[in-house]
Amino acid sequence: MERQRTRDTAPEVALRSELHRLGLRYRVHTRPIGDVRRVADVVFRSAQLAVFVDGCFWHGCQEHGGVPKANSGWWRDKLDSNRARDIDTDAAFRQAGWEVVRVWEHEDPAVAARRIHGLVRSRVREAS
Ligand SMILES: [Zn+2]
Repeated sequence: MERQRTRDTAPEVALRSELHRLGLRYRVHTRPIGDVRRVADVVFRSAQLAVFVDGCFWHGCQEHGGVPKANSGWWRDKLDSNRARDIDTDAAFRQAGWEVVRVWEHEDPAVAARRIHGLVRSRVREAS
């Protein structure tokens, strides 16, 4: 299983609809930085802000993450490598001047959307 980030999960759709309600314009599932081979879930190009909606299991949320008992060694490696990849993605984006926001699937989408809204506005202001 190479890629478990699936498109249009329920938490992702909920977040997008909250962002839309706040009047934000964004792109979905794009690779915003040419030489960084990572696709972000929601992209604000002018603010240079990328949003990833992370599943609690796959990305190791403190509250809901955990290693399955069957094949636990394999799972531990798998989940560790997912987390390492997330850290690597964040670093690559930041190095290119982008901000990264990670939203857990368990988060209230309205709260997450307000946080993103604030960041987008401040980053667009800084740039102009
Ligand atoms: Zn969680």
